Amino acid sequence: MRYAIVSDIHSNLVAFQAVLDHMRGAGPVEEIWCLGDLVGYGPAPDECIQLLRSHPHVCIAGNHDWAAIGRVDVSDFNPDAAAAIRWTSRHLSAESRAYLESLRLTEVTGEFTLAHGTPRNPIWEYLLSEKAGRVSFDHFQTRFCLIGHSHVPLLCHLDERGRVSLLGIPQDRPFRLKEGRWILNPGSVGQPRDGDPRASYVIYEAETDEFQNFRVTYDIEATQRAMQTLALPRRLVERLSYGW
Ligand code: ZN
Repeated sequence: MRYAIVSDIHSNLVAFQAVLDHMRGAGPVEEIWCLGDLVGYGPAPDECIQLLRSHPHVCIAGNHDWAAIGRVDVSDFNPDAAAAIRWTSRHLSAESRAYLESLRLTEVTGEFTLAHGTPRNPIWEYLLSEKAGRVSFDHFQTRFCLIGHSHVPLLCHLDERGRVSLLGIPQDRPFRLKEGRWILNPGSVGQPRDGDPRASYVIYEAETDEFQNFRVTYDIEATQRAMQTLALPRRLVERLSYGW
C-alpha cells in the first residue's frame, strides 16, 4: 500500500493537482498524510481543502491554518504572510473554516506521528538544526515523525547510540530508514524554499518499507497569474519562480 506524504500546500491548487496527478500516475494511493498549512500565501484555499477532502486522508493544522481561523494572531507573521492570511480569512467558506477548526495539532497513524513544526511545538518551532532534532525525539513515541513548516526536504536521525544527525533527503530514488528513529520533512507542495521551485512530496511504500521523494513540475505562472489577479503580495508571487 502506498501513502503520500504532503505538506505546506498553501492554497496552491495548480501545484497540488500536479502532485496528485503524479502520485496516481504510479499507482493507487491508500491515503494522503497532510502535514498542515493547507492555506495561506496562495490563491485557492477553498479549492485545496475540497480537493484534499475528496481523498482518504489524515491532516493536521499548521500555523497558517490556525491564523486563518483566528486561533493565532496575524501580528506574529511577517507583513506579506499576514496580508495573505487576512485575504484567506476573508475568503474562506464556512465549510472550509469548519474543516480547519476540526484539525488537531498532532495525529498518530501506525508507526508515524504527524506534526507541522515539531512534535514539541507543532505550530511554531522549526526543525533545522541537530539541537532542535535532539529535543524533538523526546516528544513522540513512534519510530517516525513527519513534519513540514520549513518547506525544506530533510531527514533527522537518532541512532542507537543516541547520536542525532541531519541529512539531506535522497532525490529520485527509493530509500529505507533503518535502525533508530527518524524525522522526515517531505518539503513543500505549494511554496518550496530549497532553491528548487518544483513541488515536493514523498511516497511511502508499506510493502517494501521504502520512501521516495519526488519533485514535480507544475504551471508556476498559472498560480502567479491567479495571485496577481487577487492582488496578493508581489514578493509571494515572485518567490514561487525561484523556490525560496
Ligand atoms: Zn508553511
